[in-house]
Amino acid sequence: MNLPELALTLLISFFSAGIQGAESDPARLEISQRFRTLQPGEVVLISATSNQPLKSLEGKIFQKTFYFYPDSNSTLWSGLIGIDLNIPADLYRLNLQGVTLTGSRFDQVHDLRVSDKEFPTRHVTVEQKYVDPPPEELKRIGQESKRVKELFSTTSPARIWEGPFLLPVPGTTTSGFGRRSIINGKARSPHSGTDLRAKEGTPVKAPNAGLVVLVSNLYFSGNTVIVDHGQGLYSYFAHLSRFATEEGERVVAGQIVGHVGATGRVTGPHLHWTVRLNQSRVDPLSLIAVLSGQDLD
Ligand SMILES: [Zn+2]
Repeated sequence: MNLPELALTLLISFFSAGIQGAESDPARLEISQRFRTLQPGEVVLISATSNQPLKSLEGKIFQKTFYFYPDSNSTLWSGLIGIDLNIPADLYRLNLQGVTLTGSRFDQVHDLRVSDKEFPTRHVTVEQKYVDPPPEELKRIGQESKRVKELFSTTSPARIWEGPFLLPVPGTTTSGFGRRSIINGKARSPHSGTDLRAKEGTPVKAPNAGLVVLVSNLYFSGNTVIVDHGQGLYSYFAHLSRFATEEGERVVAGQIVGHVGATGRVTGPHLHWTVRLNQSRVDPLSLIAVLSGQDLD
């Protein structure tokens, strides 16, 4: 065997040993899921336990990428998946893509069967200017909706939230998530938040830690606060009487960000709370449920 041949032989045995080594202990995930139901508007908590520590893990479903975060051993990875309000019932594949500590990439598929949901319809009467806004307000409305859309489509890579989410006010639900609205006789887009019963002036608490990214009076939602909880998760509070925070402030869970009011398109004082998860419109109460320690059955 001459030198180049020897080198080639060594190279081949080195690579086959490398491949065999990888094959003898490929990365594998054991997956469990926690949810109220697998329906539009629900949050699903996916827990993936790996047989070896991982460098990273992410999940692709509904043509979106969802973040996963590790425990201290980097073997248990958790991720929140949002099933948008308008996702049709079907069998969907969650494509998990992981990277091991040695840099090997691997894929694993997990099925999610989303079933149908019928949302109720409500009839509401509000001041006509909120149904057909006067022409001079259209520019403002367009700018505001653009700004909010841009915020929701910005994903801060770091996770700021941790642990369970809290109810921002102690009240019960008055208008559920996803309800179809007929406002002054006209069909409008579905209710993408949850309305909580609360008296004017009730303090509104940040449901989890985050960065305040918007404090502004908007045409439809009145005095509005948006909190970025990180990794594509946002809280949006509308119709506040007054603010107790400012843009750029880092808030902790339970910190007061404003007070309940009746500003914007409303029929009376209440707190409207919207949650966006990677731009998916999901029920805030399902976010609270999946991250609580309580039984979901
Ligand atoms: Zn509402």
